[in-house]
Amino acid sequence: MSKTMPAMFFGHGNPMNALADNVWTRAWSQLGRDITKPRAILCISAHWYIPGVAVTAMARPRTIHDFGGFPRDLFAIKYPAPGSPELASRVKDLLGTHAVLDDRHWGLDHGTWSVLCHVFPEADVPVVQLSIDETKPAAWHYELSKKLLSLRDEGVLVIGSGNLVHNLHTYAWGDSKREPFDWALRFEQKARGQIENGDHEPLINYETSGKDALLSVPTPDHYLPLIYILALQREGDRAGFPVEGFDGGSVSMTSVRIG
Ligand code: ZN
Repeated sequence: MSKTMPAMFFGHGNPMNALADNVWTRAWSQLGRDITKPRAILCISAHWYIPGVAVTAMARPRTIHDFGGFPRDLFAIKYPAPGSPELASRVKDLLGTHAVLDDRHWGLDHGTWSVLCHVFPEADVPVVQLSIDETKPAAWHYELSKKLLSLRDEGVLVIGSGNLVHNLHTYAWGDSKREPFDWALRFEQKARGQIENGDHEPLINYETSGKDALLSVPTPDHYLPLIYILALQREGDRAGFPVEGFDGGSVSMTSVRIG
């Protein structure tokens, strides 16, 4: 496989998107048709945010329903994609000196399957997850991800799944069309400009960029998957936004496609 794969950040939003047919899920399905089918997927999900770096190393990862208070139908979803011990091992090689644990307990969390069930509904592409080390700053994650760059030339689609703006304190549950907050719009607009210009420095240092950033990224978990994807941009790669919009006023559904 010689064609270089893009790298994708998905704003996954509400887990109920797994069951939904809306403007975002339709765009995810379209992306699945547009992108060359990958040999395997490496996903960095906001929902595997732990003190350490680990890769799912099992051949048959389970579908994890890592949430509460949702309808039974959502708990019934299974995303039976195989794992890839081979890709897990390759990721460990690439990350090199860092201690990377082989995980046999996690699996695919909803950050991964709520999107992939639309992008690749057949669940026939092997999926490996890479955890986000919650003890490290954004700049460390950016540098770590750069080591994964060659995966794009090996038929691997690297996905980050989180949300560029993710504030659940202000999120209007059940009111998808709520007007986005001013601070959310401002933060997103500024970030999009920086992404378009390949200006990653301020995106990595978001914590120092004022109140809009504090409200939009109250905790790093949903933002850091974007940092992983930006780190995979090469000179000359375009950055685009194939999915856009806000859910419930304070969750950005924006996706970023690199390359
Ligand atoms: Zn989430």
